[in-house]
Amino acid sequence: MHSSTVVQSILNVALETAEEYDANKVTEINVEIGKLNWITTDKLKYIFSVLSKDTLAENAELIVNEADAKIKCYNCNYIGLIDNINKEIIPMVLCPKCGSHRVNVLKGYDLNIGNITIEK
Ligand SMILES: [Zn+2]
Repeated sequence: MHSSTVVQSILNVALETAEEYDANKVTEINVEIGKLNWITTDKLKYIFSVLSKDTLAENAELIVNEADAKIKCYNCNYIGLIDNINKEIIPMVLCPKCGSHRVNVLKGYDLNIGNITIEK
């Protein structure tokens, strides 16, 4: 999925919420993205500012929280969190214990929309 499609869907949820409650504007949107999700916080905020222009969500604050990534290693059976993920390069997931790339990602790609704050 393209980054702007993802951001558009976040925006749509916010706008639908605003409409449902007859709000004048959206002031805050909380989003949780998994550490392995290809979209970075900066990119998310930038695309949002572009797409939200002239909508009820223009100038809404996008609060992005990173969610932990969890893996299972087929090599050493490690199950747990991974850290130090560099999103600027294509995320290569390695086991933090043995360094193997034979891992199964249990969690870390998800993107969830949390609380949306509106103003009447
Ligand atoms: Zn391992």
